[in-house]
Amino acid sequence: MNPHSQKSVAIIGAGIAGLTAAYRLHERGFRVKVFERSGQAGGAIRTIREDGWLIECGPNSVQYGSPELKKLISDLGLETDLQIANPAAKKRFIVRNGWFMPVPMEPGQFFNTPLFGARTKLSLFTELFSRARIRHTDVSLAELVRSHYTQELVDYAVNPLIAGIYAGDPEKLSVKNAFPSLWDAERLKGSLPRGFMALAKAKRKPGEVKKKGAPPIVSFRLGLQQLIDTLVAKLPADAVELNTAVETIIPGQPHRLVCSRGPEKCGGEFDFVVLAVPAPALAHLTFGTLGERPLASLDTITHPPVSSLFLGFKREQVTHPLDGFGGLTPEKERRDVLGILFSSTLFPGRAPEGHVALTLFAGGMRQPEHARLSTDQLLERVQRDLKELVGVKGAPVFVKHTFWPRAIPQYQIGYERYQETMTRVEECAPHLFIGGQCRDGISLPDCLKSGEKLAQRVADAAAK
Ligand SMILES: Cc1cc2nc3c(=O)[nH]c(=O)nc-3n(C[C@H](O)[C@H](O)[C@H](O)COP(=O)(O)OP(=O)(O)OC[C@H]3O[C@@H](n4cnc5c(N)ncnc54)[C@H](O)[C@@H]3O)c2cc1C
Repeated sequence: MNPHSQKSVAIIGAGIAGLTAAYRLHERGFRVKVFERSGQAGGAIRTIREDGWLIECGPNSVQYGSPELKKLISDLGLETDLQIANPAAKKRFIVRNGWFMPVPMEPGQFFNTPLFGARTKLSLFTELFSRARIRHTDVSLAELVRSHYTQELVDYAVNPLIAGIYAGDPEKLSVKNAFPSLWDAERLKGSLPRGFMALAKAKRKPGEVKKKGAPPIVSFRLGLQQLIDTLVAKLPADAVELNTAVETIIPGQPHRLVCSRGPEKCGGEFDFVVLAVPAPALAHLTFGTLGERPLASLDTITHPPVSSLFLGFKREQVTHPLDGFGGLTPEKERRDVLGILFSSTLFPGRAPEGHVALTLFAGGMRQPEHARLSTDQLLERVQRDLKELVGVKGAPVFVKHTFWPRAIPQYQIGYERYQETMTRVEECAPHLFIGGQCRDGISLPDCLKSGEKLAQRVADAAAK
């Protein structure tokens, strides 16, 4: 008999972190129950298929580099359903002087690009010879890059990139908390690329060959939702309770949960509790019978709103060749979108024959008010960018607008205080573990790894 078969685990939140934890714990013989507030599993991952279009409402793709992601996909038998990004999507664009310029992807291209001036180009070379520096206090990402290179590199590379990943502001994001490898690289060698190379070398196992280039970008044949649906299908039939919000945890042995399902109250007792919900949801959880909210301070983590606007056009309505991944906009260029993904180039087959799909992102730290516009107002607002950047003529033939009121937690300077709060709560409530996007990083691979870590922590505690 499996040693864990009598132990029960409640997993709160059916996003990628919670479902990965549930799958791994079920595999190890724990009795798992996943509580999910909304009517569907996936959290930020939401794929819709409609009239020949495949729409990603949240994340669109994932970097296929982390060993945890590769192992999970292999264990789930999903390798044959992987959709590798179109090789054409290697090309990326950044707006400068009002148009999409190709981003240099190789050193030779970098020295010829009009995207950056001579000082920035030279700084990339001279930085290699900088002295090691030891910082004692955290800095913003923008400050770090400025101190190694130029303000231009911050404005035309870091700023748009951070808008694309975090919907964030590089002047506020913490190097120590959001980009720990940059922090380590600088401390190790002074020069960021030299530090990265040294870190990568130290990580390589003996005999392991040096990897070339960035890991591929992937999704699945049926979109990212396929990963979620497969995880759910691998759990026992009644393991995921949808439309069930956990409100209170009464710590003890076992822990007691109080949940609401519409007007109904429900709950249960569990040996272990895993929390894999976003920071605002953690902040609202009450603990014990006196209604205490020990994670309340997490409500002050900045989460800018983002709107994702999926637009379908007839091919002839768009003059840009759409020969790439998409383009990002630096704040200095004063555009209304953070970026435009060329969705039907990135993953062919996601638009009906003779059509193309674009996904626009608006809002973020830069222009939160744009994210809150109604669909019609947003369509009106992004018209200039569509026309000037990709040469769109006329109205879209298909529109799907998704509003994320609190999209992505910003790991800003001082974020360690939130990490410390989560650690303190875990210390006061043994057999309760916290993970997910506000604890272990925001990307899908980070959240998936967080789920693996949560499962391991439960298994280790159960073995004691
Ligand atoms: C618009 C957008 C685009 C993105 N693009 C990318 C991308 O291209 N690539 C990438 O790698 N990452 C991307 N990300 C980030 C990534 O998708 C998320 O960080 C990640 O999916 C979060 O996973 P999670 O499991 O930690 O949390 P979530 O996905 O937020 O899941 C948490 C779940 O908990 C549930 N919940 C909340 N409170 C309760 C409660 N009290 N009781 C029960 N259930 C509760 C919620 O309903 C939710 O389903 C994007 C995010 C957004 C919003």
